[in-house]
Amino acid sequence: MNVSRSALAQEPDSAPAPRRVSVLGATGSIGESTLDLIGRNASAYRVVALTGGRNASRLAELALRHRPDFVAVADEAACPELCERLSGTDIEIGAGKEAIVEAASRSADWVMAAIVGAAGLKPTLAAIRQGTCTALANKECLVSAGSIFMREVARHGTALLPVDSEHSAAMQAMGGKCSAEIDRMCLTASGGPFRLWSHAEMTRVTPKQALAHPNWSMGPKVTIDSATLMNKALELIEAHHLFSIGGERLEVLIHPQSIVHCLVYYRDGSVIAQMSCPDMRTPIAYSLAWPERMTTPTERLDLAKLGTLSFEAPDERRFPSLRMAREVLAAEGSAGTVLNAANEVAVEAFLSERIGFLAIASLVEATLDKAAHLSAGRPGSVDDVLATDAEARAVARALLPQFAQAAPAI
Ligand code: NAD
Ligand code: MG
Repeated sequence: MNVSRSALAQEPDSAPAPRRVSVLGATGSIGESTLDLIGRNASAYRVVALTGGRNASRLAELALRHRPDFVAVADEAACPELCERLSGTDIEIGAGKEAIVEAASRSADWVMAAIVGAAGLKPTLAAIRQGTCTALANKECLVSAGSIFMREVARHGTALLPVDSEHSAAMQAMGGKCSAEIDRMCLTASGGPFRLWSHAEMTRVTPKQALAHPNWSMGPKVTIDSATLMNKALELIEAHHLFSIGGERLEVLIHPQSIVHCLVYYRDGSVIAQMSCPDMRTPIAYSLAWPERMTTPTERLDLAKLGTLSFEAPDERRFPSLRMAREVLAAEGSAGTVLNAANEVAVEAFLSERIGFLAIASLVEATLDKAAHLSAGRPGSVDDVLATDAEARAVARALLPQFAQAAPAI
């Protein structure tokens, strides 16, 4: 076929330059799902930096597949293995907390913040301060330091895209509308594996049972948080900061099928909800392609096959974390920092079988009571938050023996 010069001149420009992306917490559940999407569309992305906690072998495998410029591991003891596995490549390697922050600070167009817990605070903030479009999975950042985070997001004009399925759903259902047009927002929760268990049965829950989530495959901490509904408590606080909605307009609805992720009730009586099959690659893809959409390999929703979607009110007697979230929202100050720190200590203690399942919420509540003086302070900087976090952890650890394997009465 003959192609004239003028026809050639009208050809579309060559493909856009690959988008430069970094993944913090690359070896975790969200990190792996993010890299799965990136790997399926490899020519569209160039990976700048990858980070992991301590799993050098998996981090090296991911680095060999995605060829980042820089790879960082938080645990310095894992560095020799990482260096050995990446020897012969030109990938730069770093180790320790500062290296994770450096990875987050490298110039990129988009970063996935998927480190678990308050350990993600400084790296995520570093990405935000670079103005890098930040996909936020690490909800603990907002629970612990929400006001500082949102202030920095505004100051640096950074796009902050929620990855939590409920908050991604909220962003989609809000369609750019401001919170003044909204009566209330409702986050759904599957109810976890113990939704139908009696309080007596819940006293005997083992870590193995709590780690078996009915709908979602996730890292251990968020899986335990889902079983106690602390995950939803953290998400109420997350929604408050992301969307400037007061606690009195935030609700939780138990929805065992995890198909509807969030409902936004408008002041004219309309309700807009977002639905998708429970696969984190859908909200991750929303943040990765934003403001456009990308194709994903996730299961398509078939409502006729599902037949029924059911909803029920949460039982705050068996799951007291929701009440604690409301108290934290009402208190403001540093109560979120204390709640988050105590919960991290409690989840770790439960997983190592030092306390029972119901003692998780009890330990968090006892820490909030005992550390009321910490909650009262207003943090001015992320270092203030980290200092309060450390003190709250110390209070929670000191209280631990009182809850050792005992299931307190409610
Ligand atoms: P995960 O435990 O599977 O992965 C956590 C990642 O953080 C790993 O790469 C780990 O190596 C790294 N890490 C752990 N400690 C670290 C430290 N001290 N310094 C640096 N890196 C460290 O967790 P996940 O399930 O992927 O969850 C990540 C975050 O996303 C959490 O905040 C969680 O609440 C949130 N989230 C997860 C899901 C999900 O489906 N997994 C859904 C919504 C929100
Ligand atoms: Mg969620």
